[in-house]
Amino acid sequence: MNNATINSTQLWIGAQNIVKAQAIAHVQKNYCHSLGCKTCSICKQIENEQFHAFMMLTTSKSSYSRADLDAIFAKIILVRGPQEPFFCVITQADKLSDSCANSLLKLLEEPPLGWHWLLLTDRPQELLHTIKSRCVVTEFKPTQQENCYSQIFTFLTAKKYGDILEFHQLLERTKISDYESRLLLDDIIKFWTRESLSNNKYLGITSYLQKCIGQSPMPGSSKIFWRNVYLNVSSLVN
Ligand SMILES: [Zn+2]
Repeated sequence: MNNATINSTQLWIGAQNIVKAQAIAHVQKNYCHSLGCKTCSICKQIENEQFHAFMMLTTSKSSYSRADLDAIFAKIILVRGPQEPFFCVITQADKLSDSCANSLLKLLEEPPLGWHWLLLTDRPQELLHTIKSRCVVTEFKPTQQENCYSQIFTFLTAKKYGDILEFHQLLERTKISDYESRLLLDDIIKFWTRESLSNNKYLGITSYLQKCIGQSPMPGSSKIFWRNVYLNVSSLVN
């Protein structure tokens, strides 16, 4: 445990994938013996959400239900002190319903010893004021790196063949990790799935990208992975 000795309730505002990656990096920094190398077994466990002192709540529904919080309540009684800190990340905290919020308020205000809340949202305006007022708020503006992320997205969702050289140059500038690559691939698949609903000529792209999920980049091979994806998507789009 490196520096999260103070119990805290934090709200991180920013694009979903960005704050999520930041949250993972934050927990890694706190537990990894090399302050978040992203390659050791601890960093990998955290990234895969299999680390014993970290949980991340997500939902694909329009809002969280009380039952979704059961996992948190089950953990919270087990956390015993600052020597055994625990990080609980709630993604899309704006989806916490009134009743969820009410059941969490006391715990957000006074986290149990060793407990750290990280609430994430890209829609702070939809977050309940009662929750927001209990948090230390940090806003994440996109950095150059994140601009690269959205530029790769733009290239791979364009409906005409782009300049491969320009794409190569973009990849050279960026340092996309394998974790970010998986998130980005998800975003791109969502885009083409939506597109293929209205135009079935894009179905080929969607099914190609879905095959890519099984071949997600290994550490260090993200650039090669994206180069191949770009070549394939470009040829399918035309
Ligand atoms: Zn590490």
